[in-house]
Amino acid sequence: MSLEELFKEIIIEHYQHPKNQGHLEHPDAKSDGSNPLCGDEIAMELIFDGNVVRNVMFTGNGCSISQSAASLITEAIKGKTIEETRTIMNEYKNMLAGKEYNADILGDLEALSDVKRYPARVKCASLSVAVLDQALQQKK
Ligand code: ZN
Repeated sequence: MSLEELFKEIIIEHYQHPKNQGHLEHPDAKSDGSNPLCGDEIAMELIFDGNVVRNVMFTGNGCSISQSAASLITEAIKGKTIEETRTIMNEYKNMLAGKEYNADILGDLEALSDVKRYPARVKCASLSVAVLDQALQQKK
């Protein structure tokens, strides 16, 4: 299997069987956003434990890129500190912008690296990060 095929499989798997989909009881932060160009919608809820993202869940509608990105990024940040979460978000943004990025930090999120070749889809892939960024700003 080529790397491209593997990446496609990861995206399809997370689209069809999303991780961390649903709601949390008494979230510490919640945020939502949309990408009208494609019709994507994502809402996120987070629970913090000190400086750690103890739990994160999302709900959403939209294309396979937007929904798999939400699944992949929630999976990537769960249990991480805020600082680690910010690092993951920054590396992910670098990847989507076509800049150099740290693949070790991104893990399975690298499956979305091809999206950078399709500017219209970059907004689909970055919606989750924008929503997450808003939610993190609610952290006191
Ligand atoms: Zn989309």
